[in-house]
Amino acid sequence: MKLNLNIEPLDTWLKPSHQPLVIAGPCSAETEEQLLATADLLAKTGKISVLRAGIWKPRTRPGEFEGIGSIGLEWLKKAKLATGLPITVEVANGKHVEEALAAGVDILWVGARSTVNPFTVQEIADALQGVDIPVMVKNPVNPDLSLWIGALERINNAGITKLAAISRGFSSFEKSAFRNEPMWELTIQLKTLCPQLPVICDPSHICGNRELIPYISQKALDLEMQGLMIESHIDPSVAWTDAKQQLTPSALSDLIDHLTVRTPEPANPVVSDKLAELRKQIDKIDDLLIQKVAERMSIVEKIGEYKRDNDITILQLNRWDEIIKKRASFGKALKLDEEFTTKMLELIHAESIRRQTEIMNTKTAVSEK
Ligand code: PEP
Ligand code: MN
Repeated sequence: MKLNLNIEPLDTWLKPSHQPLVIAGPCSAETEEQLLATADLLAKTGKISVLRAGIWKPRTRPGEFEGIGSIGLEWLKKAKLATGLPITVEVANGKHVEEALAAGVDILWVGARSTVNPFTVQEIADALQGVDIPVMVKNPVNPDLSLWIGALERINNAGITKLAAISRGFSSFEKSAFRNEPMWELTIQLKTLCPQLPVICDPSHICGNRELIPYISQKALDLEMQGLMIESHIDPSVAWTDAKQQLTPSALSDLIDHLTVRTPEPANPVVSDKLAELRKQIDKIDDLLIQKVAERMSIVEKIGEYKRDNDITILQLNRWDEIIKKRASFGKALKLDEEFTTKMLELIHAESIRRQTEIMNTKTAVSEK
């Protein structure tokens, strides 16, 4: 399946002033001074391409700071004028869209709590009908790729072709080092379904703390994401929202300096030849691997027939236990991760059992002929 979105390439509507593309600014606009001072320092780094700030904040519990509201648009306009940076805000309903458009906001984004709700996304899409503005769609809070795709489709159906996705991690029941699990495989699936869709990573909301942001930022770039959205506050220790995950503009500048921007294909022909040579070796090994797995399966089938004809159960737990232990320690001796070897064997074993079950249920036993 391919996703049929009508999309303009990112560099036709957002030319980064610096590599990698970084969208930065406070989680929330709190006061005019806080926003303008943060924007000023961010712009002075010369490494930021877009200024962000939340002014309508969908919060989990009532009573928390729910955003400064429409007045924040005036501050953003001032920040844009002072720094020359394009501005972006989160919109969560039709009225937000109208107000943001009237204020000359350059890019809109749909937040994770809105993407989960098709009613909300449709309301936003309806308000965007006939408007030419870039829109970025964050993944939904829960790990549901269809919801993310559905939101992108609704916005695209409204005629928005300057479209990007933002990967901000997914809420998970399991405790982990991250506030929201990156679950890269979902973003990779989205990119596979729609290779022309630009994807930006939001390490701040994935990490939930400052310490992990450099690691996730580099990882996102290495996974070919086209930019980063990182929260930055003039004084994170007193931030009204998401205090633990915001960086000062100077810490952000430092982080950006330490990122390595890698290219998907090397420009240097020597590097390219070496890579091609190594890939050839990998291809050969992959062919051999598949061949050997197929050989293994044909022996598995022979064993299956033998078990069937002699009334032996398919699964012999002792033998399976022994296989796992021996092979995993063999793998370990060859510097393979034990968990990896175990998972790989379990996958092969599951397929072996499936095949033997099929054989057990076919009535061609020699004894019956
Ligand atoms: C934000 O960007 O400040 C925000 C609320 O993000 P999310 O929608 O990803 O939670
Ligand atoms: Mn935030």
